[in-house]
Amino acid sequence: MKEKVKLRNLLKALYHYVVFFALVAFVISCCMMLFVSILSETLGVTLTEASVQAAAKLTFINVLFLSLIFTLFDVFRRKIMVDKPVRRITAAAKKIIQGDFDVRINRVSGFAGTGGFNEIIDCFNKMTEELSGIETLRTDFISNVSHELKTPLAVMQNYSTMLQQPGLDEAKRIEYAKSISGACRRLASLISNILKLNKLENQQIYPSVREYDLGEQLCECLLQFEDAWEKKKMNIETDIEDDVIISSDSELLSHVWNNLFSNAIKFTDKGGTVLVSLKATPHHIVVKVSDTGCGMTPEVGKRIFDKFYQGDTSHGAEGNGLGLALVKRVVDIMQGEIGVESVCGQGSTFTVRFRRG
Ligand code: ADP
Repeated sequence: MKEKVKLRNLLKALYHYVVFFALVAFVISCCMMLFVSILSETLGVTLTEASVQAAAKLTFINVLFLSLIFTLFDVFRRKIMVDKPVRRITAAAKKIIQGDFDVRINRVSGFAGTGGFNEIIDCFNKMTEELSGIETLRTDFISNVSHELKTPLAVMQNYSTMLQQPGLDEAKRIEYAKSISGACRRLASLISNILKLNKLENQQIYPSVREYDLGEQLCECLLQFEDAWEKKKMNIETDIEDDVIISSDSELLSHVWNNLFSNAIKFTDKGGTVLVSLKATPHHIVVKVSDTGCGMTPEVGKRIFDKFYQGDTSHGAEGNGLGLALVKRVVDIMQGEIGVESVCGQGSTFTVRFRRG
């Protein structure tokens, strides 16, 4: 059936070509005849009817012949310059439709490369690269979420089974119950972080901007970690300028400070120091959170804002690798900048900068 349709289309195209060339040849022959008769009249030469007819026939055949040669040449040119790259692009597009994002098209070389197809091929390859990146992120995200969900669920399942043992002593019962509530907290924090990140990434959160005292907010957030830093006997130092008014969404920014403070305390050993500073220049507001903790290597530093990335696995159970991804997203929404300077084994400094006004 397909072959029949193809043949019919070919015959149709051929018919149109022949009619077109015959018409062109006819028009050109008429023009030639007109030109020859005007010329012979001007020169005073008399032409016989037979010679005029012979000249007309010759012109008609010549034009038809030349047109066909040029058409064949054009068909050949199209086969090399158009059909080949179009076939490659179509085949690759079909693979993408089937979900294969690893497909890439080789650039066309030589004569075929002059038709502008290489630019299309480059764009196509870039597009598939982006698509495969998004696909990897999506699958990684799903496997990370599943993994992060499974761990606390397994803890809950094990300890709840152990709680059912008859004659369990009081100390064990409390220990198991604490483990279950810890796993519940982890699960709740994971789910709330995923939901927050999802909302932030899908622009479902509209920042409600108002003016407020940033120094006050930093102190309030810091105080929430009093128990944690006292447990680790840490020194908390502050260098906060008074009356620094920021125009921002306070709730969103509190996520930033809470995450940075929690990390600074988490990744700093007992007796270490955390310094929080706030400085305002005429054009910028700069918040720095420094610690004398474990620090990180430049390789880790490059990835800390990725979702689910945990550089220091010794504290893996205390987080889910979403904190800094969330921080980065909020800072981006607020059109600020965030960076980290760190020396492995000596500590880290996170700097958040917002433009004023
Ligand atoms: P989590 O704290 O849950 O592991 P985050 O997204 O908050 O996830 O942090 C990602 C990674 O960045 C951490 O696993 C850690 O390796 C690194 N990191 C973050 N803050 C600090 C810090 N203050 N000192 C050293 N490493 C840090």
